[in-house]
Order: sequence, then structure tokens, then C-alpha cells
Amino acid sequence: MRQQERTNSRIAELGSTMRVLRPYPHVFAFYDGRIEGKRAYSEERNWLDDGAYVLGISTYAIVEGAEALVYDTHISLAHARIIRETLSTAGVTKPRVVLSHWHTDHVAGNEVFKDCEIISNNLTAKALAEHRREFEEGGRDPAIKPLVMPNRTFDGELTLKVGGTTVELRHADIHSHDGTVMLLPSSGVLFAGDTLEDPITYVAEPDRLEKHLNDLERMSAWDFQRILPNHGAPEVIQSGGYDRRFIDATRRYVEKLLRCRQEPELAGQNLERFAGEALASGAIRYFAPYEAVHRRNVEAVTGRTGA
Ligand SMILES: [Zn+2]
Repeated sequence: MRQQERTNSRIAELGSTMRVLRPYPHVFAFYDGRIEGKRAYSEERNWLDDGAYVLGISTYAIVEGAEALVYDTHISLAHARIIRETLSTAGVTKPRVVLSHWHTDHVAGNEVFKDCEIISNNLTAKALAEHRREFEEGGRDPAIKPLVMPNRTFDGELTLKVGGTTVELRHADIHSHDGTVMLLPSSGVLFAGDTLEDPITYVAEPDRLEKHLNDLERMSAWDFQRILPNHGAPEVIQSGGYDRRFIDATRRYVEKLLRCRQEPELAGQNLERFAGEALASGAIRYFAPYEAVHRRNVEAVTGRTGA
């Protein structure tokens, strides 16, 4: 598998640069990527590097005693094995998995947890079933084979216990139609999946942005203080997560993106200028690789390809 590229120093061995962060005593963050000049799979454009590793990706586990709830299985089997081993070393004998949504970089490690409960909402299970062939047979590079499917599904909301800690799973139609976010009421923490991404959301469903705005509004009424996203800055995640301004920054970005359809001048702005206000306020942080995400977002919304 891509031996030549593996010997290139720009390509890190899968899992070798993963950092285990502890934003809260009972929360593990498995963070990888956002390392200048580094890729983890290939020099060519691919979902693992360009959709996750280059931008930075974090998955999480809530741990109490022998129980753990793993929020997404990361970008490769190597990553998932590190997660499972880390939890095992911490005394976990009974991990369960929750999937935030159906996208590749959140489910690629499922196979490592095939003997465990893998929970998702019905929409995620349906989307994975629809994309299974594509994931397994090379419609995506790297392929995810076998794609291990969720074995417990729910509709809308589900409340779980991890030891004595209550965890609320809630459907959120933001970024993808099938999002599941996790609320930890005792700590006031929201695990946001890809519904909030620092500095900007990745537009995967351009025709549904109005619906995403509705659910951003709904989410902003919930009671929590800190936000842990799956794509964000490691130092912020390590220190307990983003504050609630993160939601408003995302909402404003999406609203402005929609205006690009009528305002070509806006569509031509780079991310630094486009999101200047939110960046200056400290609600989100500039990260240069997101210029490419922004360019792609503008193209997705306007239907036009830029220069
Ligand atoms: Zn996603």
C-alpha cells in the first residue's frame, strides 16, 4: 500500500503522531494532525489527509471506571487501536461507541470495536448502508473495508449512563443531515462532532444550509458552557474547549456564505477577510489550511468554480 509514499518523510506513519489530551478528568481527546507540512496517507488528494489530518481531527471518550463511551472511531484502524489500548490501560473493560455522523473520518476505525455496542441514530445507519459499497470498494481512497455498521440505533434522542454520568445524545441537522451531538449535563460540555468546526464549518450539504441554520439556533438554546468539536485547535481542546460564541460565529459564517450567491465581491474574499470579525473576537482561530475549505464552500454554495 503506497510503499513509496510511506518512505517520504512528509508522510507520517498512521497513528504515530496521535496525541492523547485530557480536557477533563473523565474525558480523553484523541487528537491527530494539524502538523505543518505533514500528511498521514498520501501526497495525492484524499479524504484522510485533506478532510481530516491536515485540518486536525479529534475523537473523544468519556470514561468512568470500567465503562467508556467512545465518540467516533477516528481515521484509520491504527488510530482506533490506539484508542482501544489507551482505554484498556485506563481500566476500561466495556467500551461502547457513538457515531457523530456517517462521514469517513468518523467511522473508519469501527472494525476495532466490532465486538462492542456501536450506537448511531437511524439516519446515520441508513446513510452508512447506502454508502457501504462505495466505502468498501474504493469509491473512497483509502477504502474502509469492512465497514462495520452500527448495531444499536435510536430516533432523535437517547440518554445513556457511563458509570454514574448521564450522557444525552441529540440529533442535530447541521453539517450533515444525520448529526448526533453529545451533551454532558453534569460538566456543561457539548461534544459537537462536525456541527461546529474551528475556524469554519465544512459545507457538505450546500442545499440544506437553511436547515442547518435552524438547528444551530435550536442548539444555542441548550444549557452548556464548553464545546469540544471533532475538528479544532489542540490547545483549545486541551484546555476544556470553546465557549458558546463558537455557535454564533458558525451561524454568521453560514449566513454570509449564503449571501455570496447575490454578492460576487463577497465570494471573492479569502477566509481571513471573510471571517475577520469572528477571528478578531477570538471566538474562532485562523488556520491557513482552512482557506481551501472556504474556497470549496463558496464554490459549493454559489455553484461557481473560482479562479
Ligand atoms: Zn463530517
